[in-house]
Amino acid sequence: MNERQISGKDVILKAAGLLEVKLVSAVAGYPVTSIVNLFRNDDFWADNTFWMINEKVALETALGASVAGRRSFVLTKHVGMNVLCDPLVTSATHTIGAGLVIIAGDDPGAKASQNEQDSRYFGPLAEVPVFDPATPEKLFDSLKEAIELSEKASIPVIVRVTSRLLESFCESALLRPKGSVPPEFDRSVWDYTMKGKHQRFHSMSYPLMGDYSQSQDCLCHIDTTKTGIISSGYPACLVEKFIEESNSRISHLALDMVYPLPIKKLKRFIDHHEYVLVVEETEDYIESHISIEDTIKGKSTGHIPHGKIEKEHILHALENIKKTHMDKVVKPETIKERGPRSICDTCPYLSLYRVLGTIDKPIAGDMGCSILSTSAPLQAVDTGFALGSAISVACGFKGKGIAVIGDFGLAHTGMQGLINAKSNGFDLLVIILQNDVAAMTGGQDVADLTHVLEALHDDIEVVDFAEKIKERELQALLMEKMEKKGISIILAKGTCPKY
Ligand code: SF4
Repeated sequence: MNERQISGKDVILKAAGLLEVKLVSAVAGYPVTSIVNLFRNDDFWADNTFWMINEKVALETALGASVAGRRSFVLTKHVGMNVLCDPLVTSATHTIGAGLVIIAGDDPGAKASQNEQDSRYFGPLAEVPVFDPATPEKLFDSLKEAIELSEKASIPVIVRVTSRLLESFCESALLRPKGSVPPEFDRSVWDYTMKGKHQRFHSMSYPLMGDYSQSQDCLCHIDTTKTGIISSGYPACLVEKFIEESNSRISHLALDMVYPLPIKKLKRFIDHHEYVLVVEETEDYIESHISIEDTIKGKSTGHIPHGKIEKEHILHALENIKKTHMDKVVKPETIKERGPRSICDTCPYLSLYRVLGTIDKPIAGDMGCSILSTSAPLQAVDTGFALGSAISVACGFKGKGIAVIGDFGLAHTGMQGLINAKSNGFDLLVIILQNDVAAMTGGQDVADLTHVLEALHDDIEVVDFAEKIKERELQALLMEKMEKKGISIILAKGTCPKY
């Protein structure tokens, strides 16, 4: 790296300025937290960048900005796409105003996530365009095109990023803006029925998306009629490196825009080659749309693994390209092999986790630090479905369910679970780890919801974990609460020594 080079993360910051973005709304989580920190540490962006309590409100706020003619970026990790999906799906037919780009951070390899889901699938689901750039230069171009297409087709656009793309570098001077005035929302769309809006979308917005995709200026070199590789995202860089280092005669089509897929471009490339290998992360998204002949190889044929791709996977697949199928021998990674990620030794809640580990009942955990207590030696909580899920999951348990949730999980979506539990009369013990920070994602501040809890529930016990609490007393308190009918809340106050 030289001093004129900038990283993929910096490209997003720079693009926001050059593209005249006015609002950045984000929810912390790997791999997007560090991008948002760049915005928060920037004098101009500090006042225009917001840590939102969840991804749905993050997108809704950006939609409001768009209606008012203000361009926006929404930054979320991949699982946050599930939370914002409701307004996203409707926004495509509702129409918007100024450009709105959702930067979705995927985590191939699940380095710091609960799954490896592939955000590209939100394109066909929500009928919004998806870009999957391979390099920081392509990332900038994608953001530029995304704003332009968002305004022309009046829809949000997704740009998928991964940590390896964000940590790659490019020449800063290559980044050039494209000036245009952002439009405001045109409310004449309300002349249509809901069905009419979908018909309008398919006659006006979708053809535009298709034209953009078909004419995308993506990398394509045809060097042979034997084997060609189709890729998108960061794996395209691995393919290029592999071709260069091995001096192989292999063609390569690296797509930048993956929804809609440029079917004619793909067909021409496929028709030109005897064998085609599809290299993509994390699922077989492109492959599933094109693998109608057994000359097309990829994940479904066992040539390429699911999840994170490395160069050796490409070599292995090419060595076996003539095989119809390769046996998949996948040994699922265990915590023992990878090494545990545990609750910190200095965590104020260690005694609580130890006590929870002795309870012979299922305990619903959440996606904060409590998830670190699932494995040995603590084995405290038993589930971790989604951020904010613990309370509603515990509602489904037999008898009085136990939920452990952080204060950020509660603010994110857990509070709805608590309101629902009350209105349906569930028996529940909710332990809220109230340390005022989102410790799992870097220590972002969390709103104090104590007054909201007090307005909703009577049985609230505050336990200060700054004081030395005997595990025997803690156990007795939990047993006492479990014997009571209704909703009991233990507000476990503590200070995270990490933040
Ligand atoms: S980060 Fe903080 S809250 Fe989380 S386990 Fe460590 S000490 Fe506890």
